[in-house]
Amino acid sequence: MLKNDMLEKWDRENFFHPSTHLAEFARGNVPHRVITGGQGCHIEDRDGNRMLDAFAGLYCVNVGYGRQDIAEAIAAQAKELAYYHAYVGHGTEASITLSKMVLDRAPEHMSKVYFGLSGSDANETNIKLVWYYNNVLGRPEKKKIISRWRGYHGSGLMTGSLTGLELFHKKFDLPFGQVIHTEAPYYYRRPDTAMTEADFTAHCAAELEALIEQEGADTIAAFIGEPILGTGGIVPPPAGYWEAIQAVLDKNDILLIADEVVTGFGRLGTMFGSTHYGLKPDLMTIAKGLTSAYAPLSGSIVSDKMWKVLEQGTDENGPIGHGWTYSAHPIGAAAGVANLKLIEELDLVGNAGRVGAYLNKVMAEAVGAHAHVGEVRGDGMLCAVELVEDRDNRTFFEASKKVGPSVAAALLEQGVIARAMPQGDILGYAPPFCLTEAEADEIADKTATAIKTVL
Ligand code: PLP
Repeated sequence: MLKNDMLEKWDRENFFHPSTHLAEFARGNVPHRVITGGQGCHIEDRDGNRMLDAFAGLYCVNVGYGRQDIAEAIAAQAKELAYYHAYVGHGTEASITLSKMVLDRAPEHMSKVYFGLSGSDANETNIKLVWYYNNVLGRPEKKKIISRWRGYHGSGLMTGSLTGLELFHKKFDLPFGQVIHTEAPYYYRRPDTAMTEADFTAHCAAELEALIEQEGADTIAAFIGEPILGTGGIVPPPAGYWEAIQAVLDKNDILLIADEVVTGFGRLGTMFGSTHYGLKPDLMTIAKGLTSAYAPLSGSIVSDKMWKVLEQGTDENGPIGHGWTYSAHPIGAAAGVANLKLIEELDLVGNAGRVGAYLNKVMAEAVGAHAHVGEVRGDGMLCAVELVEDRDNRTFFEASKKVGPSVAAALLEQGVIARAMPQGDILGYAPPFCLTEAEADEIADKTATAIKTVL
């Protein structure tokens, strides 16, 4: 085994880490961390620290760490056939089985699944399918995509543009040409505190309608949204939001892409966020929970309505010119099959709903009354604590006084990992679905201590 100081030297000299302050990492001010193992909701680092991972990696290790069933399925697939492509009708038993398993669980009106590697590439696929669809239908002007401020849809060129978070735009000159953003359904940050939840929903729908009118419905192809805002702050939609948005989209013949990268396969205590909140998507994006991150795999689930047009398009134009070398990678597919089986055998979706509700309850009890806690919110196995400068006047910390990362660091000192969400001072929690009530209590109690330590 390499000596620790050598590994750190190699790390700081060679490794370009994503989403990292590069200069501070090189200077040694961002810790170098080597994670060596994991079991259930816990991970371990090379120095022997054991941590309760209350964010499941990047809200993706849904079944928890150390699942031998999935590891064995991956190993067996790698030994038998590590790779073959999926072009021109090729498949493996794993990829075909997984497509059937995904469609069996998806809403009734969905027809096919296209497999990719990451949430970002699946969203890129979805945008291309929307454009292809409108071209086949002979409406080449109908191409703009509406997304929400604070939405997160990936880090690619198109998906980074769809993402509505400053950090992911800064200095990148993203091609925003076809992308327009509308209001985030963030009730706590509503423009006027006198608004009820119903007023705010009506306001979001009216803003969307005004935007559509301004741009022209015949120029807008699709609306993309996460059923519950994730990276933008873990914000459940206000009551009636999706019903109101869906009505505006239907009226204007605009497709709906439900980005289920976080919510797909159980995080809200239901198989999909779309069924949970009553969306009727034309496309669904899936990734993280499809394999619980045991291997990279994502998917675009296509509705019957769109599928018919895609088929017509290939009759007119020949094979669809869209594919990744690793589409439906057999190892990812084997991981997906084993993962979905395990989720059901252990009733992990049920547990996510039950223990998630418990986590939200104990978190509210532990920190809800603190002078710097503006709101504790969540749904299923997602929870957020919003830290504010003054809860009575609902004022937020200035960016230069950001406290979220310090509180997350104080929590880590006690062995619990939460995520300081990128915008605002929000602690995010998205533990594995196998979380126990005792672990939920630990997360809540230690969060209370961390907040008291810093604020
Ligand atoms: N969509 C949502 C809702 C996400 O949360 C993420 C990642 O966190 C993505 C898309 C992008 O997925 P990936 O990081 O796998 O490209």
